[in-house]
Amino acid sequence: LDARLPIANPNDELGRLGTTFNDLFARLGQSFDQLKRFTSEASHELRTPLTVIRSVGEVALRERRDEAAYRDTIGTMLEEADRLTQLVQSLLMLARADSGRIVLGREAFDLGRLTWDAVNHLRVLAEEKGQQIEVAVSSLMVLGDPAVLRQAVVNILDNAIKHSPPDAVVAIACRTHADLAEITVADQGPGIPAEHLPHLFDRFYRVDAARGRQDGDRRGGFGLGLAIARWAVEAHGGRIEADSAPGKGSVFRIALPRERTLSHPEGTTP
Ligand code: ADP
Repeated sequence: LDARLPIANPNDELGRLGTTFNDLFARLGQSFDQLKRFTSEASHELRTPLTVIRSVGEVALRERRDEAAYRDTIGTMLEEADRLTQLVQSLLMLARADSGRIVLGREAFDLGRLTWDAVNHLRVLAEEKGQQIEVAVSSLMVLGDPAVLRQAVVNILDNAIKHSPPDAVVAIACRTHADLAEITVADQGPGIPAEHLPHLFDRFYRVDAARGRQDGDRRGGFGLGLAIARWAVEAHGGRIEADSAPGKGSVFRIALPRERTLSHPEGTTP
């Protein structure tokens, strides 16, 4: 997609118009490249569970086995089918977000209650690992789409639990900070090396991607959870960031503009 216009004099009117067009072409080219990358990565991820389902099915058909072994195979197939469902749901969510087809709700709700909601939703996972979730939450009214924001908080809390060792404490807090409504999730996990931090919220980005694939570890995520969380927060005019270092655990912070959203309830979505 190389369609740059030749520019004789960048300072006259035609030249400026040409420069504007060239910037536009460059941006279009970038979007096109991103789309191509997204499609190819999505296809790759979709193919992996399908390959597993196919190959365990073929082997089971070929070999005579006892009932327990067949049940085992069926269990694996269902697990992969669940992963596929999860992946398709995430991809659909991002595709809808990209095309602007998600109309965000604008209702007043308590961010503190939403935080408790997310904690209660994931508490079992933490308890299974012998972890404790420490909750420090104050009631905090904000405007927005609670279902969309809940997804962001759940994704971050889920990561904190997933990456923390047994018996660790995960701390979640919801409070006002300056004129922002802030949710922080702090864990005692392995932390994230600095070189990964700028890419953490990119689609399909995984810190331990290479290792996961080599081990044939199929339980790892798809690298879409934080991308979805970023979209959800930014769609509300907020910011999401991570502060982490190896051996020091991680802190994820969601900051939402409080005053602005509350004082213009009739405005369009940010
Ligand atoms: P996934 O769905 O694969 O977990 P995410 O987008 O949620 O993907 O996270 C991207 C990457 O960031 C993951 O591969 C994981 O290695 C890393 N990560 C996210 N949260 C944490 C955390 N709390 N501690 C350590 N690493 C994390």
